Amino acid sequence: MARDPRYDVLFEPVKIGPVTAKNRFYQVPHCNGGGYRDPSAVAAMRGSKAEGGWGVIFTEQCEMHHSSEITPYIELRLWDDDDIPQLAKMAGRMKEYGGLAGIQLAYSGINGPNLYTKEVPLAPSALPIRTFTNDPVQARAMDKQDIADLRRWFVNAMKRSRTAGFDLVCLYGAHGFGVFQHFLSRATNQRTDEYGGSLENRARFVREVVEEAHNTIGDTMGITLRLSLDEMIGDLGFANSEVRDFVEMHKDLPDLWDLAHGAWEDCSGPSRFKDEAAQQELVAGIKALTSKPVVGVGRFTSPDVMVRQINSGTLDLIGCARPSIADPFLPKKVEEGRIEDIRECIGCNICITGDMTMSISRCTQNPTFMEEWRKGWHPERMQDKGASRNVLVVGAGPAGLEAAHALAKRGYDVALAEAGSEFGGRVALESKLPGLAAWGRVRDYREYQLSQMGNVETYLNSELGAGDVLEFGFEHIAIATGSTWRRDGVARQHVVPMEIDDGMPVYTPDDLMAGNVPSGDVVLFDDDHYYMGGVLAELLVKSGAAVTLVTPCAYVSDWTNNTLEQAAIHKRLVELGVNIQLNRGLKSVAGDHVVADCIYTGRTETLPAASVVLVTCRVPEDGLWRDLETRRPDWADAGIKSVKVIGDAQAPGPIAWATYAGHRYARELDMPDIGDAIPFRREIARLAPD
Ligand code: ADP
Ligand code: SF4
Repeated sequence: MARDPRYDVLFEPVKIGPVTAKNRFYQVPHCNGGGYRDPSAVAAMRGSKAEGGWGVIFTEQCEMHHSSEITPYIELRLWDDDDIPQLAKMAGRMKEYGGLAGIQLAYSGINGPNLYTKEVPLAPSALPIRTFTNDPVQARAMDKQDIADLRRWFVNAMKRSRTAGFDLVCLYGAHGFGVFQHFLSRATNQRTDEYGGSLENRARFVREVVEEAHNTIGDTMGITLRLSLDEMIGDLGFANSEVRDFVEMHKDLPDLWDLAHGAWEDCSGPSRFKDEAAQQELVAGIKALTSKPVVGVGRFTSPDVMVRQINSGTLDLIGCARPSIADPFLPKKVEEGRIEDIRECIGCNICITGDMTMSISRCTQNPTFMEEWRKGWHPERMQDKGASRNVLVVGAGPAGLEAAHALAKRGYDVALAEAGSEFGGRVALESKLPGLAAWGRVRDYREYQLSQMGNVETYLNSELGAGDVLEFGFEHIAIATGSTWRRDGVARQHVVPMEIDDGMPVYTPDDLMAGNVPSGDVVLFDDDHYYMGGVLAELLVKSGAAVTLVTPCAYVSDWTNNTLEQAAIHKRLVELGVNIQLNRGLKSVAGDHVVADCIYTGRTETLPAASVVLVTCRVPEDGLWRDLETRRPDWADAGIKSVKVIGDAQAPGPIAWATYAGHRYARELDMPDIGDAIPFRREIARLAPD
């Protein structure tokens, strides 16, 4: 199919200094939890974006000198020439299809505790290091010599970037992570010399570095400056009005302005708190202040919204991180007129948790993310099917839907049976909760794809038992029957059922999602610690209940620190009037009250309650799988070669774990048994000589 002419504007080339982007799709720098530890995995991931048609593809932040690093977080490094080969490999993959390769050079300054190098951190002013982990480290204020050294280090890093084959250098001054912002902001620059004070003085350092960049690499490489649109700490910080003043004063300083928002939490807010194009107001009008192109982000997944950004004169290039993770082939799909095939980001921020937990990233929508090299999984193509012909998938939640889709793409005949009256499983239910509507995209994408395939039969209202499965005679059976929330309090505080009086009405998340929502005084006990407890507290208040949220953690929805939304959740619950009780367990539940206990002292306290909601943990719904296991002797007669349980029915986890499980099942069907071998490739550091 040809592309719709209304999207033509997205495919116009854009000049960035001495180089030209082939279109307006700009993959801004984004982390991936792999970095210097998994360079080939990261290179292959960037390579998939190149194949998917992105005009510009950036690395994640690259520490450009050993005197500033952010261990334990794993990004890239360009400390000396030894780091060039792995970056050259990345640049090579980025450029394979005519896209521009960009490197984001970061000097972390006040954001770098230097836990690995043990160097004393350098910053514009002597203040405590500002990290997620509040490391007990302070920075030393740079003197004039340090500033001159830092400029030279930038020049060296730029030269090395050119040697590695990059076309663009991004100087990082956004999200509170890069030294350019630290100089620009009054909050982190309290100098009294010519590098502090007035905006002109605070801008001196960035001006000097960009000018040196033009002189050093500017003939062949584009120089971009990434700034926060607003530091979000009021006038003391680098606020939006000062950002505008700065751009106006330095109109044509870089070859491109890359504008992001506030702290990372502001810029990459989840869909629960931020809509598509949420930065519109902060960025509008800045383009008029400069003749250089402007790129901005906003979890853009809709080509129509993208076109509006261009035609309204707001942006020149469409910056995407998460949308490019969820669908590396987004530009290609727009180009080929396949808009319905775009796998839209749901804004869950699971990708960010890979960085925050220093593991390796996952994506709820794209299970192949960061597995392109490790497992050889292409984001669009599946390998051909093996010897078998057909598969029955039972359960159409995220695991079952993804398995069915990926199996059908391999060429198997697939039947998908779902007990309920709609597809989606937990996603269908959870997307009706406050703020989680976008999560329905997990179902929508797959349901549509399945509807377009000739080799898939889908059945709703079809609860299958072992007898049915044996009767049907499919060769392979994938059991993706999900999980249910426990009603007995067992999770982390209680490893055996807690004491609960029969007279107290007890609800689980499943009850609330089924529309059975209590009112009056409700105690919600959250021993799950991801989003569900906080979301249900919100639902309960909106339904008229007076909610006390009790959690043994020091934070509400603790694990959402990794999805960058914990603070937003806490704020929302406070604003809704939820009584938040941190560091408290639920010792027991009586007929008309509960007994909470302090996790440190064990001291108890009585809280009034007319009902209790237990957000604890889930039990796999694996009865069908167990029944089939006990009937193993009947398999051969029924023509069954394998029965596997996947997703929440195997072990409950986040939705991303379920799509991954479904995809993995489809990939591995009919593949040779690898026995005890590791099921993915890994990169092991070469030993240096003693
Ligand atoms: P996952 O996250 O692992 O995909 P979900 O709980 O989202 O799990 O989805 C499981 C789906 O399986 C639900 O929609 C449920 O209705 C369906 N299901 C459970 N048992 C059966 C069964 N015996 N036959 C058909 N569908 C089933
Ligand atoms: Fe989007 Fe979630 Fe995938 Fe991240 S993990 S790209 S937020 S769908």
